[in-house]
Amino acid sequence: MSTITRVEISHHQLPLDPAFPASWDTQPRTRFPATIVRVFDDQGHVGIGSGDSMYGFADYERYFIGHEALDLDRHAAVLSNIEFHAGRPWPMDVALWDLAGKIRDEPIWRMLGGTSNRVRAYASSGVHRTVPEMVELARRTLTLGFPALKIRFGRPTIEADLAVVSAVRDAMGNALELMVDCNQGWRMPWDTQPAWTVDHATEVAARLSAERVFWMEEPLHRGDYEGMTELRRRVDIRVAGGELTREPYEFRELLERDCLDVFQPDCVCTMGISGLRHLAHAVNAVGKVFTPHTWGNGLGVMANLQLAAGTGGGAFVEFPFDPPEWTTARRDYILRRSIEVDGDGWITLPDMPGLGIELDEDVLARTRTGQATFA
Ligand SMILES: [Mg+2]
Repeated sequence: MSTITRVEISHHQLPLDPAFPASWDTQPRTRFPATIVRVFDDQGHVGIGSGDSMYGFADYERYFIGHEALDLDRHAAVLSNIEFHAGRPWPMDVALWDLAGKIRDEPIWRMLGGTSNRVRAYASSGVHRTVPEMVELARRTLTLGFPALKIRFGRPTIEADLAVVSAVRDAMGNALELMVDCNQGWRMPWDTQPAWTVDHATEVAARLSAERVFWMEEPLHRGDYEGMTELRRRVDIRVAGGELTREPYEFRELLERDCLDVFQPDCVCTMGISGLRHLAHAVNAVGKVFTPHTWGNGLGVMANLQLAAGTGGGAFVEFPFDPPEWTTARRDYILRRSIEVDGDGWITLPDMPGLGIELDEDVLARTRTGQATFA
């Protein structure tokens, strides 16, 4: 028996100078927030999680305190209820898996039944650079060993976006797989633009297919099931999506209607490790790809790497990386050691129990704040 005694939530912000001009944000980001969730048991173990801001979660901590720590499915069911009423509480699920791993002295990927502790990464860029700069990033990505690079769309014109893909393909030949993120699945709070139509997505897909792009990500709104089914009928490029889709029944629709080739929910934002382990197996069982979104801090990256390794490894797993503004040092500032790829683009997960990572308490003390905003 191991009983949960306490939950602690803290907010931190790393000042960013130079700022990070995220392609999906109109304001360059001057701070990188991280919310840390800690779950304590009566044996001296502490599980850690991160992801959403967890605002208001203090009201719900009482539904965990006093309960058996290892009742992960029970906790996930409660978190699912909490999500319906308030926010995305899934960092708590990750913290509970980390705690369970520490109690059992087992890494999460092994608790999930994984057969390998190695995952291949793709470099996921996050900045709209000029054509020569994007070609340079692609060269650097390949030199570092990554097998693939994801390019962000959203420049003022679609022709400007497509010019980047063509230039990178011309420069790299077939040495690097390319993915493209159209970012049509969801909107930042201020962005009232409508999502692409299926006809527009079809035109873009044809151009990307001609450039041998590995997958086209979020070409339509997350709820446009008919559009996604139709798009997949019309084009031969893989369609990816679902990174912030919330509910199991929504994923069931995406599967049953054959909307996607690649499923990308992120366990710190959606259904937790507890829910996504089951979805990953359902996706794999029908010959589709499960490979989580990971854009966030290093704890979230590791949680999703553990999930991917524990459920089959995916094709490539997202590795947010776009120097100089987005380095592993910035991304993983809350960790004592940053997560890195080897010279062939592989990540070997640590042998330590749970997530296998340690927080940098000195950095957390220095960056502690009252809010989880990007400015
Ligand atoms: Mg995406």
